[in-house]
Amino acid sequence: MSKFTRVAIANRGEVAVRIIKACEELGLETVLLHSEADVNSRAYRMATHKVCIGPAPTAESYLNIEANIQGALAMGAQAVHPGFGFLSENAHFAQQCEQAGLTFIGPSADAIRTLGDKVSCKALAKKAGLPLVPGYEGEDQTLNTLMKEVEAIGLPVIVKAAAGGGGRGMKLIKQMSEAAEQIESAQREAKSAFGSEVVFLEKYLDRAKHIEFQIFGDSTGKVMHLFDRECSVQRRHQKIIEEATSPSLTEELRRKMGEVAVTLGTLGKYKGAGTVEFLLQDGKFYLLEVNTRLQVEHPVTEEVLGVDLVKMQILTAQNQFVWNDNEVRIPRGHSIECRIYAENSYMGGVPSTGLLGTVHWPEGPRRRYEFGFEKGDTITSYYDPMIAKAIVWDESRPRAIEKMIRVLKDATVFGVHTNIPYLIEILSHPEFVDGTMTTRFIEKNFAEGLKATHNEDERKKLSQDIYKKFIASGAGADAGSLNALTPGQTNSPWLSHWRGI
Ligand code: ADP
Repeated sequence: MSKFTRVAIANRGEVAVRIIKACEELGLETVLLHSEADVNSRAYRMATHKVCIGPAPTAESYLNIEANIQGALAMGAQAVHPGFGFLSENAHFAQQCEQAGLTFIGPSADAIRTLGDKVSCKALAKKAGLPLVPGYEGEDQTLNTLMKEVEAIGLPVIVKAAAGGGGRGMKLIKQMSEAAEQIESAQREAKSAFGSEVVFLEKYLDRAKHIEFQIFGDSTGKVMHLFDRECSVQRRHQKIIEEATSPSLTEELRRKMGEVAVTLGTLGKYKGAGTVEFLLQDGKFYLLEVNTRLQVEHPVTEEVLGVDLVKMQILTAQNQFVWNDNEVRIPRGHSIECRIYAENSYMGGVPSTGLLGTVHWPEGPRRRYEFGFEKGDTITSYYDPMIAKAIVWDESRPRAIEKMIRVLKDATVFGVHTNIPYLIEILSHPEFVDGTMTTRFIEKNFAEGLKATHNEDERKKLSQDIYKKFIASGAGADAGSLNALTPGQTNSPWLSHWRGI
C-alpha cells in the first residue's frame, strides 16, 4: 500500500510503546486502540490520539475485530499495527483491515493463513522437503486413529491444538496407558481455548533447544533472514530469557537453518517481520512453526545487527523499504533479553497485581528497557503479567550475562512482586552460563520455583541494603511505595514487597 501518516495500534503495554516510538521517529501520528483498563498506561500517555474500544476483558476489546477497525477508522488512521499476541496472527483481522481501507502492518492475510496456521505450514514444508518434527497432522481426528498414530510415532508424543499458541493447549503422552486421556483432554482444551478441537501430534524431543530465525520479506518480494535467537529458557513452553545469536549453532548449522527459514518465507510469499522456529537436538534441526508477526524477543536481534525491525515493518508496509544487497549485515557481540513479570517467584509464579510504586531501570551503556507501565499505573489481572523487558548487549556472551545480572540487581520495582530474583538465579546457573540448557532447563532445575532463604543474617543485611536504596531513591513520600513497604509474609528478603520481586 501507499504512504500513510497516522497509525492505529491494536495492542497495549510495552509493545504499544515500542510501536509509538518507531512511529514518532518516522514522523507518523499514532492512535492507541485501548481498553477501559489501560487508561493508566505509558502507551496511553504517549500516543498522539487514543480511543477506547471496549471494557477490560480481551474478548470485548483487544480481540474484538470490529471495535478495533471502527476505532481506527473513526480516528482517521490509515494503517494498523497489531503488535504481538491478540489479533496479530489473525488472518481475518488482516483481511478486514485491508477491506476497510486500512493498511495492515504485517504479512498478507494469505501468508498468515499459509504459514501462521501450524497444520498448513507443516503441509507446505513437507511438500518442499524441509525437515519437520515427525508427527501426524491428518484430518481424521477420531480417537482410534490418533492412538494408532501415537504408536507409530513412538513415545513420548506431544498433542497440540492446531489453532493453539502461546505455549497453551499442549499435552504430553509418556505412556500408552495415558494416551486416550491426554488426547481427549487436549481436544477439550483446544475447543474451549481456541474454538476448534482439531489437534495434531508430534514426537516429543526431550533434550532439544529452541532456536529461531528472524525472517524479513521486503516490499519487492525478497525474503532474507536476520540470523538466529535462542529461546531455550522456557517455563510451561513460554520463553523467559532470549538471546542473539544462539550459543549452540555451528556456522554450518546456522547456514542450513537460515536457508530453510528463507525457503519457507519465500514459499509463503512473506512480507514484513516473521520468525521461523526450530527445535535442535543431537545436531539435527526440525521445523516447529512460523510466527507471522513481530516477536516479543525482537530486540536482541536489533541489538546484534543494529536494525530497527518495527521501523522496517512500517516502511515495508509503505513500500518504502528495499533491501540494499550490498549491505551485508553481520551480527556483532551478544544480546540477552529478560522478560520481567509481575509475579511471585516464591509462590509458583502467581501473578502479583497492584499499584506500581517507584520503578527504576538502571541506566548504562547498551542497556535497553521496554516497558509499558510506570509509577502510579496499576497492574491488573486482566492481561499477561509481563511489565517490562530488560535487554543488554555486550561484546561476548559471558559479559552480556554479567551485565544482565548487574542490571537486574540494580533494578527497583516497588508495589508488586517481580520475577527478578528468579531471573538472576537462572542467569547464574552453570547450565545457562555454559549455554547447554535445553527447553527442559526450568523443569529440571527450578521445578518448584524459588525457595525463600532462611538465613537470618543474610536477610537482615539485604534488608538494610535495600532500605538504604529505597531511601536514596527518594521514594519515601510516595503512597504507592509506602504501601509496598509492608513487610513480606515470609522471611525471604526478596519477598519483602519493597524490593519488587
Ligand atoms: P506455541 O505456538 O504455543 O508457542 P510451539 O509449537 O511454538 O507452541 O512450541 C512452544 C514450545 O513448546 C517449544 O519452544 C518447545 O519448548 C515446546 N515444544 C513444542 N513442540 C515440541 C516437541 N515436538 N518436542 C519438544 N518440545 C516441544
